[in-house]
Amino acid sequence: MLIETVAIRIIDDILEQVGLLEKVKFRREDLKLEAELAAMFKEVWDEQTIKALKKAAKIFEQSKVITQQQVEQALGILRRELGSKLTEKVDIKKITELLSAAYVLGKVSMGKIPSQKFAIEFTLDQEDKAAIQALQDHTMYWVGAQYDLHLRQKIANTVKKLAFGEGLGRKEVAETLKREVGSILESHYDYWDILSSAVIQRSRMIGVVRSFIIAKVKTYRYVAMLDERTCPICSRMHNRVFEVRHAKRIVESTLNAQEPDDVKKAWAWLSATEQNIEWIETSTEEELGLRDFCLPPLHGRCRCTVVVEEFEEIE
Ligand SMILES: [Zn+2]
Repeated sequence: MLIETVAIRIIDDILEQVGLLEKVKFRREDLKLEAELAAMFKEVWDEQTIKALKKAAKIFEQSKVITQQQVEQALGILRRELGSKLTEKVDIKKITELLSAAYVLGKVSMGKIPSQKFAIEFTLDQEDKAAIQALQDHTMYWVGAQYDLHLRQKIANTVKKLAFGEGLGRKEVAETLKREVGSILESHYDYWDILSSAVIQRSRMIGVVRSFIIAKVKTYRYVAMLDERTCPICSRMHNRVFEVRHAKRIVESTLNAQEPDDVKKAWAWLSATEQNIEWIETSTEEELGLRDFCLPPLHGRCRCTVVVEEFEEIE
């Protein structure tokens, strides 16, 4: 932690000297938004988990032997509390606020970078509001989907493990449940971090792309963040120049996605496999752009950004 703080200070100094400090400030702002969103999700998640476990424990309280039915009842409680009830408990107003803030950061960031010669006057028009609404809907979908993606199978497996006959000993059941549920919950914080990062970074980048369109920017440069120098994907994307029309298409198909799952196709992420890295290395910018692979975030916790390269020629 300490080393990180020192490193950031040194980076700040260097960037100030080369006139890029504003960009870092913006980066800090969006990291704060990410952290706040993740903290909100985790708080609700913790509350619901405790509630679910207490309720589930009550089922076993009185009986000396545990039946299959009781186990299924208890896991049903986990399912509800960590699935549909969790979605109800999440603070939608807060999500909207944080997504809007990220969007605004993106939309005004160009005007704040000293190297850019113009500033975008900031207002939220109908198009912006529709974009934020779509982003919020997608986020809520992913909150609900966490159960399906990460818990459904694990809970089903737990039931299977416990289903070796009626009349299990309390100790046996308790130990299995503790182990299984414990591992489920432990591994879960990552999901909230990645989700928060993805939705905040996407909101910010959609704001950026909108300002590019308004300002008639033709091409932009992909800038990998300094703390991501080890990211094999973004280090290969760093400094490459893409056409705004590709970014525009990505944003449009993301926002128009009927099923939030379609977002995955519209704004794809890649894992850092050898094959993927080779593909990035050997593809031209135009090829990457046509495959909708040119706009951060490009992977979990990606904090890359983009800057203006050139404007459309005004006739
Ligand atoms: Zn990145």
